[in-house]
Amino acid sequence: MDNIKDYTLPALTEWMAQRGEPAFRARQVFQWLYQRRVTGFEQMSNVARPLRRRLGESFSLGGMARQDVRHSRDGSVKYALRLDDGQCIEAVLMPNNTHYTLCISTQVGCAMGCDFCMTARMGLVRNLSAGEIVQQVVEAYGGVEEGGLIRNLVFMGMGEPLHNYDNLVRALTILTEDHGFGFSWRRLTVSTSGLVPAIRRFAADRLPANLAISLNAVSDETRARLMPVNRRWNIAALLDACREIPKEPRVRITFEYVLLKGITDSLADARKLVKLLHGIKCKVNLIPFNPWPGSTYEGPSLEHARAFQEELLHRGLLTTLRISKGQDIQAACGQLITASPAARWRKVAG
Ligand code: SF4
Repeated sequence: MDNIKDYTLPALTEWMAQRGEPAFRARQVFQWLYQRRVTGFEQMSNVARPLRRRLGESFSLGGMARQDVRHSRDGSVKYALRLDDGQCIEAVLMPNNTHYTLCISTQVGCAMGCDFCMTARMGLVRNLSAGEIVQQVVEAYGGVEEGGLIRNLVFMGMGEPLHNYDNLVRALTILTEDHGFGFSWRRLTVSTSGLVPAIRRFAADRLPANLAISLNAVSDETRARLMPVNRRWNIAALLDACREIPKEPRVRITFEYVLLKGITDSLADARKLVKLLHGIKCKVNLIPFNPWPGSTYEGPSLEHARAFQEELLHRGLLTTLRISKGQDIQAACGQLITASPAARWRKVAG
């Protein structure tokens, strides 16, 4: 049975047309799915009963079981969500002053093998479907206060989003549909470890979502040690691709940079980073490493992280220092992992 949340609005409109139903029926169903977030087709009260029955015979609603919900002292909530085949993924809801940001997963596990990342230890189990990506937003709304709004989505959970390109793009299309959630493209941020051909494709497809590049080191030697993807596409190739992305006014690429004590956090590294990014319209997001059980890395002190940030700011590089939310529940960057039954546990080299 198909998951109805794999369908874009044009695809659902086509399904309706093939059954003699007008286009507005698809729009109505989208509103029920994403604005009212119903849990059964019978709840779609302005849809005729025979059509509701037909929808129920043809589609599942793609619901997920909440295997675990953990609340952090800082207000973040981590959801472990069980998929139809028993696999598990995680999504993290983070409150801000006026709205929420949701970090979502695009794969079960990840193939990229970044050495500082807990998810990497699972290896890649499988891609998520578009409907499974979208459903994380539906599930997270259960943790949002009455009248609250999830305004930002960051694709920085488990997985390399651009490694699951087609399903990612389909999910983005569904999430930004006005008759559904209606997210603004500018509120969506897709993170990548640096898959250069996929970055070029993303640019050629003119997808207006923000791109965040996980850079994390200033020399190929260090980056290749931390991120195997660098052995295929080195820093120069990655930055060339970034320079070629057509940018609208006021839009910047974000470079994520994990501060690993004694490895990527020297002030000389900071100065080299400024040189590397010269000429690219960008901002840098510094992320002090969050240790996880078994990790061999340490994060710098807050004082040192601030000094690194100052070094960049002094030289005119727009830089933020992200103190990851949810550290006490292992929901912070690089800490998402689940006990998926099919996970291939790999030893992470120290
Ligand atoms: S940091 Fe991202 S791309 Fe790298 S292994 Fe972890 S989830 Fe995958």
